[in-house]
Amino acid sequence: MSGVTGSVPDSMRACVLHQPRDLRLEERAAPRPERGEVVVRVRSVGVCGSDVHYYEHGRIGDFVVRQPLVLGHEASGDIVATGPGVPADRIGERVAIEPGFPCRSCDQCRHGRYNLCPDIAFFGTPPVDGALCDYVRVPADFAHPIPDALSYDAAGLLEPLSVGIWANRKAGTVPGGSVLIAGAGPIGLVTAQIARAMGATEVVVTDIGAERLGVAAELGATGTVLAGAESTGTGFDAFVDCSGAAPAIDAGIRAVRPAGTAVLVGMGADRLTLPLGVLQNREINLTGTFRYANTWPAAIALASSGAIRLDRMVTGHFGLDDTESALLAGADPRHIKSVVTLGG
Ligand SMILES: [Zn+2]
Ligand SMILES: [Zn+2]
Repeated sequence: MSGVTGSVPDSMRACVLHQPRDLRLEERAAPRPERGEVVVRVRSVGVCGSDVHYYEHGRIGDFVVRQPLVLGHEASGDIVATGPGVPADRIGERVAIEPGFPCRSCDQCRHGRYNLCPDIAFFGTPPVDGALCDYVRVPADFAHPIPDALSYDAAGLLEPLSVGIWANRKAGTVPGGSVLIAGAGPIGLVTAQIARAMGATEVVVTDIGAERLGVAAELGATGTVLAGAESTGTGFDAFVDCSGAAPAIDAGIRAVRPAGTAVLVGMGADRLTLPLGVLQNREINLTGTFRYANTWPAAIALASSGAIRLDRMVTGHFGLDDTESALLAGADPRHIKSVVTLGG
């Protein structure tokens, strides 16, 4: 016997990007679980800014779509099959998928920094296919069981929530602390919510859009600032950029207190002019972030406790056959997050 339990159909639907703006719904062979893996029937996939970027430009930096690619990395679903070495009683579990699978044996992996593994395979990043399809195959320990209190949508959005957790860990957010966040998109909104959940008592969010600032306030920001029109104040323990916008990064670093921290999460230009005098005179710690490591347990606990509201960020539901509309929904200023719903 192969040691595979459960069943997966022979074929499935997959939403495949061939060229920029050339997205096709195709029939593909469904995956089978290998040793240590499960197959998940996908139920919800959040659409990320990076998916939109691949759709529009076919590349992000050095990651180039050279062969047809399935997008999507913010996914949840139900385990329908287990491979050898995985307990068969996991079949039927509702799970959130952590979408980057590291090698587990390199120097970075052995130090726990598996997000920096040079051999990580990450969903929807060329050449690794993502989750905008009916079934995916994942290592069993990267399919995290979720409580009934979490919707499939919220479970998929544990992925951007993880970015917010990681950003706050890098920022050194503490009870009673203050955090300035630039950008009130999905990442800025989860970063603000996590900052509050970690006990920061001053969480100020800036954006160029008044609509999104309203959502930031609703989700727990203690202050909102219309970028370019109002001042943020100064003396923040940490600044987290979730905008990628050069003026926001410059202003944010200037608003950090001596010996504070500046964290760059947003993706913008490859090169930036930074206020070096401020960084040096105030001994500000400046760091980048790359995804996250060991965040799903905290993300699940926080989201199921009610401390974090992920469903509030969903502003549109789409079918797999309408993924293109999900990717284009960002044109509406009230839009925050599209979700593609599968199964039923
Ligand atoms: Zn994402
Ligand atoms: Zn590794």
